[in-house]
Amino acid sequence: MLTDYHLHLRPDDEGTTYERYFTAENVERYLDAAARAGIEELGVSEHVYRFRQALDLWSHPLWIENGCDDLDAYCQFVRATPLRLGIECDYVPGAEERTAAMLEARDFDYVVGSVHFIGEGDAAVDHAGFDVWEGAGDADEIWRRYFEAVAACARSGLFDILAHPDLVKVWGRARPLPDRDRRFFYEPAVEAIAESGIAVEVSTAGLRKPIGELYPGREFAAMCVEAGAAFALSSDAHLPEQVGFEYGRATEFLDALGVGEICVFEQRQRSLAPLGNRVR
Ligand SMILES: [Zn+2]
Ligand SMILES: [Zn+2]
Repeated sequence: MLTDYHLHLRPDDEGTTYERYFTAENVERYLDAAARAGIEELGVSEHVYRFRQALDLWSHPLWIENGCDDLDAYCQFVRATPLRLGIECDYVPGAEERTAAMLEARDFDYVVGSVHFIGEGDAAVDHAGFDVWEGAGDADEIWRRYFEAVAACARSGLFDILAHPDLVKVWGRARPLPDRDRRFFYEPAVEAIAESGIAVEVSTAGLRKPIGELYPGREFAAMCVEAGAAFALSSDAHLPEQVGFEYGRATEFLDALGVGEICVFEQRQRSLAPLGNRVR
């Protein structure tokens, strides 16, 4: 079994309107790409901030600017396709009850929980324009805060899959890197992963970013294996060409860690399936 669950039907750029991308033709392009890559389970997980319902959770400027689409229309659209229905939902500290209410009111197959923004401010670890690295914080402090937020995201119990678990490394050497042993930062997150049972996403998106590595890195992933975590496999594609992107690297990575099964989701119920081989 190969899955691609963390997937977007459009790029994050401006002008990528719902009407243009949420069409049967566009879904067909993704399904064709998945078939060529031998991916049996394909799901879509649009960013929560694209929906106006997300403004109940947070009023970040990026969310206000982008929160135009209707979440129920999205769910209805996806349900009429062969795609699994997911969503990529930011963990917003303090908005747990409102997040739960929004998610429970819809029949998602899975919810991908993610951390992009950290601290009290509006800054993100991966977003130009709201760049946490432009502030005064040092790398050790930013990494510490990032993984604490990941731990809280896992512990919230709101999500099925923990997205790109070490996204803070996205810029690689283009941003300051911490001095401390990285295990120091990983530990609270891995503990929360073990306690919550959330599935850890192995994402090939990092291979398309300056860091040029899978999320999570080998050391983090090995700690998750040690802690008994289960894994989910995704590309975080924003284009049909990115479906199953570099899955050979991901399956080798999981093999080398001794992970032989990946998570499959339906109606927020998780089961494990043997990890397949990449066809393409
Ligand atoms: Zn993300
Ligand atoms: Zn994503």
